[in-house]
Parts: sequence; structure tokens; C-alpha cells
Amino acid sequence: MEIGKLNKQDEQTLRSGKCPGCGSKHFVEGPSGGGAVNMACENGHRFWYGGPFTPEYQGLIKIEHEGDLLRAYF
Ligand SMILES: [Zn+2]
Repeated sequence: MEIGKLNKQDEQTLRSGKCPGCGSKHFVEGPSGGGAVNMACENGHRFWYGGPFTPEYQGLIKIEHEGDLLRAYF
């Protein structure tokens, strides 16, 4: 998965609630604005996700696990 806009297949995977990078279904939400939200999966794949727009992969961020809670460093 390259940084930038997702291809159609990866976009569909993300929209179905699964990380196209690792298949995780566990996401944490980050800062939002302008109808878009930043989100990351439990393994640190960060996405920009905005309604009808093509989501973008933004690279890996640091994630810490505290039991069932995820703390993401956006
Ligand atoms: Zn992932």
C-alpha cells in the first residue's frame, strides 16, 4: 500500500470497515474537520477518510495498546 489515494479495491476494503494494509477491523478515530476524519487501525496504518472522497493512506503512526483501548499518535 503506497502513501496517497487508495485504489478502488483498497477503498472498498476500507469502506467495509477493514484496514487494506493489514485486515484489522479495529480502528481509532483521530482529528476531524471539513467533513473528513483521520483514522488509524490498531497496527498504525493511518487514513484520511472523507465522505464521498477517495480515502488516502498517510503512512504509519505510533499506536499504544492499553488493554482493549488504543492510543494513537496522530
Ligand atoms: Zn492496518
